[in-house]
Amino acid sequence: MVLAEMGDRIKGALQQMRNATVVDERVFTECLNEISRALMAADVQIRMIGTMQANIRKIVNLKERAAGHNKRKIIQQAVFDELCCMLDPGKPVFVPRKGQPTVVMFVGLQGSGKTTTCAKYASYYQRKGWKPALVCADTFRAGAFDQLKQNAEKVRVPFYGSYTETDPVKVAEEGVERFKKERCDMIVVDTSGRHKQEAALFEEMRQVAEVTNPDLVVFVMDSSIGQAAFDQAQAFKQSVAVGAVVVTKMDGHAKGGGALSAVAATKSPVIFLGTGEHMDEFEAFEAKGFVSRLLG
Ligand code: GDP
Repeated sequence: MVLAEMGDRIKGALQQMRNATVVDERVFTECLNEISRALMAADVQIRMIGTMQANIRKIVNLKERAAGHNKRKIIQQAVFDELCCMLDPGKPVFVPRKGQPTVVMFVGLQGSGKTTTCAKYASYYQRKGWKPALVCADTFRAGAFDQLKQNAEKVRVPFYGSYTETDPVKVAEEGVERFKKERCDMIVVDTSGRHKQEAALFEEMRQVAEVTNPDLVVFVMDSSIGQAAFDQAQAFKQSVAVGAVVVTKMDGHAKGGGALSAVAATKSPVIFLGTGEHMDEFEAFEAKGFVSRLLG
């Protein structure tokens, strides 16, 4: 995973800054430039890197004026805080409550790993003692229901879908209604994707959200989409109230920087990482811990 390489480069830049006899403007600028190069190599959007540089400068200049502060420590802390902020903008994410009916709707392009993620997410809660259920509101892709059914059976979670109904809004509404009656407390709604962003897809997402009234909408993205992440995430955010991000295929060769763009575009935190095709290859994500490990 290239994010680890990014972490190593940032660590190296900070180490060089710490080793300098005097941390003057030249050393500080070189440190920021090396951090920027590391982010760029990981596919983080150029505009975001510019913002990050400006934020770090602002914090460092401000704190430096307060006497008695160690500049090395100030810079280090500012870099840490900015990286955390890029992965979690600090907006509180919806926290489901066990025993209360919760609807979580997943959106994303075809192939992003959405159906797999829905099953992993349901299974994650099941292992914690919840009563989850899966609704397949993807009537667009042939075989989508079979795939969800297979995954649902694998993790032994009840599912709902239809081979004949072509209206995804209807299937979503019926499924959610049924599982609410059955007192499921984590109703996961899988939706259609398309190969590309298109108006029909976003209108469908809007309608599915309208009838299912989700407590949380999760945007699923493939970690390898890189620079395309920002626009893609923003397009979904404009049609439904995305509140969290799941980044899939973190086990591959993806650079991972796109995740930071998706966070910026949706102003929502990354909550899980997909790390493989198996149902248990799914990790809860927390920005501070991740950045701490990254910069170790
Ligand atoms: P959807 O079209 O968005 O519903 O995507 P799918 O759930 O069908 O996933 C597309 C492909 O990616 C499938 O072959 C999945 O097994 C695979 N996949 C999903 N998540 C991951 C992951 O975290 N890591 C890896 N390596 N493969 C994944």
